[in-house]
Amino acid sequence: MTARMIVGTLLSFVMLLFVPVVAHAAEDWVELQDEKADVETDKEWTIKFNTSIESDSVNNENIYIRSLDGEQLSPSLSLSEDGKTITVEAPKDGYEPEQKYMLFVTKEITSQAGSKQMEKGYKQAFTITKDAKEEAPEEPVEDPAPQPEPEPEPKEVVSTGTVTSDVLNIRSKPSADGEKLGQLRYGDKVEIYSFTDFWAEIEYNGETAYVHKTYMKLRVKGGTAVEGQRIVVDAGHGDHDPGAQGGGAQEKEINLDVAQRVAENLKELGATPILVRDNDRFVTLKGRVEYAKEVKGDLFVSVHTNAASPAAKGAETFYSENKYSNVREGRLLATTIQDQLVNTVGMADRGVKASDFYVIRHNTLPSVLVELGFVTNSGDREKLTSDHYRDLYAQAITNGIVNYYEKDVD
Ligand SMILES: [Zn+2]
Repeated sequence: MTARMIVGTLLSFVMLLFVPVVAHAAEDWVELQDEKADVETDKEWTIKFNTSIESDSVNNENIYIRSLDGEQLSPSLSLSEDGKTITVEAPKDGYEPEQKYMLFVTKEITSQAGSKQMEKGYKQAFTITKDAKEEAPEEPVEDPAPQPEPEPEPKEVVSTGTVTSDVLNIRSKPSADGEKLGQLRYGDKVEIYSFTDFWAEIEYNGETAYVHKTYMKLRVKGGTAVEGQRIVVDAGHGDHDPGAQGGGAQEKEINLDVAQRVAENLKELGATPILVRDNDRFVTLKGRVEYAKEVKGDLFVSVHTNAASPAAKGAETFYSENKYSNVREGRLLATTIQDQLVNTVGMADRGVKASDFYVIRHNTLPSVLVELGFVTNSGDREKLTSDHYRDLYAQAITNGIVNYYEKDVD
């Protein structure tokens, strides 16, 4: 029994005087009391008589309840052993909160002594209190064993990210329009649950939040350093734009061939290489940058071949210092690739240099421009046109990318 029911069973004593009378033509009602307010929804009424009542007359024709809107209720009735008390039970589901009711006791109630009827009928108005459930919520009767709250499905970490910019804004939505919830700092590590375009879903203060993936070094959970990395490989020039030329060699052809070999290597390592062009076609510089963005690239490597005086030789790799972020990452990537061009291919080392080449200046992702060697130098040209050396160039660039990804953010 709940506390609410104990309150509801407080008895309301109503003494009905039983006066034997002759039959009446019309039924007169006697108001027992002024309307009773704030009656509990499970109120039991007790009607007391000064004589024993004939049990046959204790029925819902003689005792009933009507709501203000006219609905007639047939409450359960019970007669006490001495026959002097009738208990009127509440409806099974209780009375409606705030609804007005009237309890009727007709004069048809008869006494055991001589089957005498009452002189008049009696009635009691009452108003049910506000729903007690509002103050003391209880489990719903019809659902006594509610299912426990389903455990939120544990999110699976797909990647980790290490911040590569000085600060990285945390957003409420996968958009720069999202409310700024906080900031990560250079070197901070986060667990990533999913990617939406450039946006990595993380958890921040127990809430779902998003950061831009371009300013993080990503690592697939349980994977190798390059696994899943979206590496844009850009073969410079193309079609009507041959680039550097010397001794019958054309830059656009060398670039494309080496880029395709790099892509094959990367694919074998589980990365996702994306070629800007995979045939002899022309793509504008702007188009190359836009494409890298369109494919949501993680890294950008542009492959070129040089031309100058016959004496100029060797490899050089460029990064941009003009970008707001990722200068450090671009410089690091340029360094790891340049090391490989010198050590794997045996190219003369012209060094890692900052430059304003369009495709690295306008890309926000870590990006470099590689000059493999000089078609105008006979020694370099021999390598650049050799199938074996093209494999080495491709291996050098691939190794440089792997080495870049394997280096932790300091
Ligand atoms: Zn070029």
